[in-house]
Amino acid sequence: MKIAIVGGGIGGLTTALALSQNAHDITVFERSAGIREIGAGVQISPNAGRLLHSLGLGAAYSEISVNPHRVVLRRWEDDSIIRATDLDESFLSQHQVPLANVARNELVEILGSPVAARANVTLKFSTHVVSVEPGDSSSEVIFADGSSQSFDIVIGADGIHSVVRPCVGGIDKPRFSGSAAYRALVPRSAVEDLPIDVTNRMGPDRHVVSYFIGRNRSHLNLVCISPEDSWETESWTEQGTMEDLYSRFEGWSSDFLSLLGRIEEPIFRWALYDREPLEQWGIGTTTLLGDACHPMLPFMAQGSCQAIEDAIVLARCLSDANTSDAASALRRYETARQGRTAQVQTSSVMNRDLFHMVDGKEQKDRDLIFSISPPGMSILDWVYEYDALTVSV
Ligand SMILES: Cc1cc2nc3c(=O)[nH]c(=O)nc-3n(C[C@H](O)[C@H](O)[C@H](O)COP(=O)(O)OP(=O)(O)OC[C@H]3O[C@@H](n4cnc5c(N)ncnc54)[C@H](O)[C@@H]3O)c2cc1C
Repeated sequence: MKIAIVGGGIGGLTTALALSQNAHDITVFERSAGIREIGAGVQISPNAGRLLHSLGLGAAYSEISVNPHRVVLRRWEDDSIIRATDLDESFLSQHQVPLANVARNELVEILGSPVAARANVTLKFSTHVVSVEPGDSSSEVIFADGSSQSFDIVIGADGIHSVVRPCVGGIDKPRFSGSAAYRALVPRSAVEDLPIDVTNRMGPDRHVVSYFIGRNRSHLNLVCISPEDSWETESWTEQGTMEDLYSRFEGWSSDFLSLLGRIEEPIFRWALYDREPLEQWGIGTTTLLGDACHPMLPFMAQGSCQAIEDAIVLARCLSDANTSDAASALRRYETARQGRTAQVQTSSVMNRDLFHMVDGKEQKDRDLIFSISPPGMSILDWVYEYDALTVSV
């Protein structure tokens, strides 16, 4: 089948790679001039890591991955440990692959290279799609220059600002979360003394996640979440200042403030938006995937992972579909994915409330529960054990 993918981010590229294993003719339309990623790091949990291995990316993925030894929750004012979970042999034997922290540009590079090499995939850069006209037997992609092209299937993988989404009925506006993320990097040479952990420092109305990323563990990635009354600039991402960052984390532990002092500028300020779960993902031969249909707050570290799961389930649904049953294959994909992604979206909102508790009884209870819960990461089994390769479609 002739398939168009709108958007060449993590979701679109994974979809192209997964679909290219069957005899489809795939075109990816990407508005940027090349494969490019904004933002520094991303955590890839085993539910998505296993899928990258299944796509034949195991060696390249392992090479770009930093595998943390522990996940540590710390208290904002003194860095004291609330809970430390070892990601040891038992985690590995339960989930088959480790938790991985990767640089986003390296992840899109290892996805993009095999996609570019596939004979049945065409990558069209600098191509801005403005809308899609979904039909029952084919769908039309409309470009910014006024031209259009018809495909048996169109997949909108064009991110939270998706232009495909309103064409299938998703006319809601993204919802501002009231928080912004400051994203910064510290060179490894400045933090050689730090353990290879994923650290979540929780404080009133804010939290900070840090982990190493990059080939040879080149940087420590810092994502500092703090309240933002409103977001008035056009762009959802802009450069931030160190002064602003310090002012938002006044009174935090001296270890943390010393970490801020080692940041290699620039730092970026990122408005955090999400949307309510979407009831209808597609019409006829058009569907959505990744942030285009289920953008979520990053507090479960699952947005990219869910896009990767979508890609695998969609490829399975289309593996033996043809032009006469393409639309019903897309509906099977949507049905298989809707409950799962809605649950992760909702949990991401709940995590914000959990991480941002102000000091007091509720916060003390939270910390106590964290500290006495059984060892391991079993609370996340429902996320990590989902298998997109075998889930019923
Ligand atoms: C602070 C922060 C931290 C995060 N941390 C994690 C994490 O640890 N783990 C995790 O799994 N996820 C994380 N995420 C979420 C993750 O970044 C997203 O879920 C993921 O990038 C979504 O991928 P996507 O391909 O669906 O969309 P995008 O990455 O937005 O890609 C969309 C692509 O479509 C292109 N495009 C858009 N419009 C058009 C158009 N009209 N025509 C042509 N092309 C178009 C864009 O240029 C882009 O390349 C985080 C997000 C944030 C903000």
